[in-house]
Amino acid sequence: MAKLNFPELEKKILKFWQENKIFEKSLKRPASRGEYVFYDGPPFVTGVPHYGHLLGSIAKDIIPRYLTMKGKRVRRVWGWDCHGLPIENKVEKKLGLKNRRDIEKIGLLKFINECKSYVAETSAEWNWYVDHIGRWVDLEHAYRTMDLDYMESVIWAFKQLYDKGLIYKGLRISLFCPRCSTPVSNFEIAMDNSYADREDTAITMKFKVIDETFLKKHKIKKPCYLLAWTTTPWSCVSVMGLAIGPKFSYQLVESSGECFLITTKRVKEVMAGCQYKIIRKLSSQEINGLKYEHLYDYYHNRLKDFKTYPAAYVSNEEGTGIVTINGAFGDVDMESSQKYGLPIIVNVDEEGKFTEEVKVAAGVYIKDAEKLIIDDLKNRNLLFKEEKIIHSYPFCYRCETPLIYRGQDSWFIDVQKLKPRLFETNKKIHWVPEHFKNGRFKEGIKTAPDWCISRTRYWATAMPIWQCDKCGGREVFGSIAEIEKRSGQKVMDLHRPFIDEIKFPCQKGDGTMIRVKDVLDCWLDSGSMPYAERHYPFANKEEFEKSFPADYISEYTGQVRAWFYVLHVLANALFHSHAFKNVVVSGVIMGTDGRKMSKSFHNFPDPAEVIKKYGGDALRLYLMGSPTMAGLDMNISEEGVKEQIKKILLIYWNCLTYYLTFAEVHHFDTKTTIEKSPSNVLDIWILSRSQKFLKNFTQLLDDYHIPEAVRLVPEFLDDLSRWYIRRSRDRFKEGDQAALATLYRVLMLFTKTTAPLIPFITETVYQKLGGEKKSVHLEDWPVAEESLISDKAEEKMRITREIAALILAKRAEKGIKVRQPLSLLIIDKKLPAEYLKLLKDELNIKEIRCGKKMKLETKITAKLKEEGLVREIVRQIQKMRKSAGLVQKDVIELVLSIDNSQLEKIIEKWSSHIKKETITHELIFDQLENQVFLAQTEITVDEGKIKIGLKVSK
Ligand SMILES: [Zn+2]
Ligand SMILES: [Zn+2]
Repeated sequence: MAKLNFPELEKKILKFWQENKIFEKSLKRPASRGEYVFYDGPPFVTGVPHYGHLLGSIAKDIIPRYLTMKGKRVRRVWGWDCHGLPIENKVEKKLGLKNRRDIEKIGLLKFINECKSYVAETSAEWNWYVDHIGRWVDLEHAYRTMDLDYMESVIWAFKQLYDKGLIYKGLRISLFCPRCSTPVSNFEIAMDNSYADREDTAITMKFKVIDETFLKKHKIKKPCYLLAWTTTPWSCVSVMGLAIGPKFSYQLVESSGECFLITTKRVKEVMAGCQYKIIRKLSSQEINGLKYEHLYDYYHNRLKDFKTYPAAYVSNEEGTGIVTINGAFGDVDMESSQKYGLPIIVNVDEEGKFTEEVKVAAGVYIKDAEKLIIDDLKNRNLLFKEEKIIHSYPFCYRCETPLIYRGQDSWFIDVQKLKPRLFETNKKIHWVPEHFKNGRFKEGIKTAPDWCISRTRYWATAMPIWQCDKCGGREVFGSIAEIEKRSGQKVMDLHRPFIDEIKFPCQKGDGTMIRVKDVLDCWLDSGSMPYAERHYPFANKEEFEKSFPADYISEYTGQVRAWFYVLHVLANALFHSHAFKNVVVSGVIMGTDGRKMSKSFHNFPDPAEVIKKYGGDALRLYLMGSPTMAGLDMNISEEGVKEQIKKILLIYWNCLTYYLTFAEVHHFDTKTTIEKSPSNVLDIWILSRSQKFLKNFTQLLDDYHIPEAVRLVPEFLDDLSRWYIRRSRDRFKEGDQAALATLYRVLMLFTKTTAPLIPFITETVYQKLGGEKKSVHLEDWPVAEESLISDKAEEKMRITREIAALILAKRAEKGIKVRQPLSLLIIDKKLPAEYLKLLKDELNIKEIRCGKKMKLETKITAKLKEEGLVREIVRQIQKMRKSAGLVQKDVIELVLSIDNSQLEKIIEKWSSHIKKETITHELIFDQLENQVFLAQTEITVDEGKIKIGLKVSK
C-alpha cells in the first residue's frame, strides 16, 4: 500500500459522508434509548475560528457521536451569536467609524444593515473548518440570535422577569468603556485576558485640615494636610470624603514648615527623600470626622462638610492609609457613599469626557485631563508627590480601551434575590472537572453583583419597554403581537431603528409612549438559547419542554462566569431549574510562547494550515488528549499535532495493512469465527485487552472524562502492534486462522470504539475490513464480552513483558545484539510453557527455565555464533526484499559471493533455513559481477565479507 496521506484520505471520507448523507442517516437511526439533549454554545461571528473554537467544536462532536452509536438520538443544531459589541466593533472598523457619534452620523439604518451583512459573510467561512475537523452538526438550520423569532423569545423572557419583579432600574457603578460608550458586565471582564499591566500616574494629594478644634487641641500652628493617594488622578475633582482605616494608627509629621497625616506603617515610604520629624501618634478615632478643604469647589453646594470616615477596605500596604471616596468611580466608594449619605457625582459623559461643571478640564477625555489636573494641583501647592506605577488594569475586551468605573442609570436583573436557588440547583450539575462546581462557579455566584442587562448601543435585541414622555409611565411587552395590538402598527423587526419608530399615545394623558433607547446585553441572547432557538413559547412548546435542561454542554473556562452563568441565572429565574446536567470545561489554548494567541505575535500555527497538513483526526487526537480537556491551559504546538500521526494513526494503519496483507495471501474469510475459547496465549491476551479497552473507554466517555479515554488509545495500539503482532509473526506467515480471526476481530472492535474520536480513519479502516453497515458511524456501540476478559492471562503477560524488557536492557548493557542467540536464562517467576516460548523468541535464548534467582548465561559458543551469523544474513535479505518493494508472495533468487571458504561452508549448511525464511527459490554461490540485481548488499563479519544479490524468481 502506498504511503498514506491522511488529509487526502479524509477528503475522500468527507465526500463519502456528504454523498451518502451519513450524518443525516445517523440522526434517523431508531433511537432505542431515547433523546439526548445537547446545546451548542453559540460562538460570536467574528472572523474565522481559532483553536479554542475548534477544541470546543470537537468536544461537542465526540460525545454526541458516541451516544448516537449507543442508541440515543442527539439533535445537533449550530448556533450563531450575532449581536453585541464584538460585531459592532468589526463593522465600525470596516466602515472607519471612531465612536458612537460617528455611527449616528452615518445613520443607524445603514449601520444595522452593515451588521446584518457582516454576520452573513463571516459565518459562511466557518463551514470549511467544521467539515475538516469532522464535526457533525446541522449548519444549514443554524439558529441566529438576530432572527426575529429568536429575539421575540428573548423579549418574552425579559417580560417574564419584569413581571416577576426581577428587573429594576437603578444608578449603579459598573465598568464602562468610554470608546464604546457602554457599560461592560462583570462576567465579560472575567473572561479572557481583560486585565493587563499598564503604567499609570499615581498622585499623593494634600487635603488641608480646617478643623479648628483638632488644630487647637494638638497645638498645630503650621498648615496641616491629610495625605491621600490615588491611581486615578482625574477622579480627585469630585472627592466627597476621605476614608481612613479604622484599625490603623496615624502619625502627625512635620516637614519644610508643613504638617502631614499619614498612617504609621507608611511614614517611611511616603516621606522618603524628605527631612521630617514625627510630632505625635494619633489613633484612627482621633482623626475620624476630621474636616478638610475640598480640592475643587464644584460640588460645595451638594455637601456641607467634607471630612474623614472609617472604612475597612483602606489598605496600609500601599499609599498613605487614606483614600478618596468618590461614589461614581468604584464599587467600594459607592458602598461608603451610601453608608455615609454622600452625594454620587456623575461628571463623566458617555465618551469618557468631563462634563461642563468640571471647569479645570471640561470636555476633555478623563485620561487626557490628568495632566491638566496635576499641573493645577501643583500650582496651588496641593500635590505632595507624583509617581509612575505599573498595575493590573481592565481593558475593553473588544476595543482595548482602558475601562473606567462609571455610575450610570441602567437596568438590572436582581441576581441577589435568585442566589439561594442558584446555589441549590448547582448541586444537581455534574461538572467536569469536578472542582469547578464548588470552586469557580459557586464563587462566581457568591460574588456576583446584579446583572446589568441594558446597553446604550445599537446592534442587539431592543429593550421592550416604552415610556411616556410626559408622565413617565412604563409599558413592557413580551411578544410582537402585544406590541402590535397596543400600537396598532406592524412590527417587522425588533432591531433599532425599526422598533424605535413605533410610538403610541399614553393611556393616562396626552403624552406619547416612546421606546427607551437601550438595547439588551447580548448575553441575555446567549443565555436564552434553550427556549429562543425553538421560538418558545410561541412555537415548539413540547419540543422545548422535552429538551430542557440539556444533558450536555461544553465550553472553555472563560464561559464558567459567562455563558454557563447566564444560562443558569435565566433557567432558574424562568423555570426554577438548572439549564444543563453535564458540563465539560476546557482550558485555554495559549500561543507557542505561552502568551495569548495573537496574529501580531506570530505565536501560533494557522489552524487551516495545520488541518491541511496533518488532517482532522490528528488535530482531534491532539486536542482531545490534551490537558485543556481537563480544564487546564496549554500552549499550542504544531509538533504535538504531528506526533499524533506517528504515535497513533500510522501504527493503527500499519496494523490494518499487516492484517490485510496476510488475510489476502491466506484467503482469510472474515466470516471465520474464532474458537469459543481461544487456545493461544497471545490470542487470549489480546482479546482480553481489547475488551478491557472497550470497557474502560466506554466508562470514561460515560463520565465525560475525554482526555483519559484518549490516553488509552496509544497504550492499546502499542500492545497490539509491538507485542501481539510482533510475537505472532510466524503464525501470520503460516496463515494461522485463529491468529487472523483474532486480529480481525480486535481491529474491528478498536475501530468501532474509536470511531467517535477519530471519525475519518476509522471509516476507512471499517470499510477495508469489510464492515456490514454503510458506515462505521451507523454501527451500534459494541458490548463488552466479559467471557473474553482474563485478568490472569493479562497478569502473566505483564510479567512476561517485564522480564523481556529487563533482559533486553541487560543485553544492550553487555553489547550483545538480540540476533545473537544465547543459551540459557533462568527467571525468578513461575510462568507456563507458552509464555516461556514467547520469551525465548523475543529474547533469542535457547532455553528458559523457572528457578529461584534470575540468571542469564552470556557465554557465546561457536555454534551460537554461527546461528547469530545466519540470523544476520536473513535479516539483511529481508531488508533487501523490503527496499526492492517486494511483498509476501514474491519468490526470489539469491546470489552469494563469499571470500572465505569456512564461511561459505557454514552458509551452505544453513541454506535451506535461509531459503525458507526469505522465500527464496534458489540460492547460488557465484560472483556478482556482470549480473543485474533488484537489490544488492555487502555484509562484513569477523570471518570475512559476504556479497548478496537479489532477483525475482521467474
Ligand atoms: Zn470598547
Ligand atoms: Zn403618560
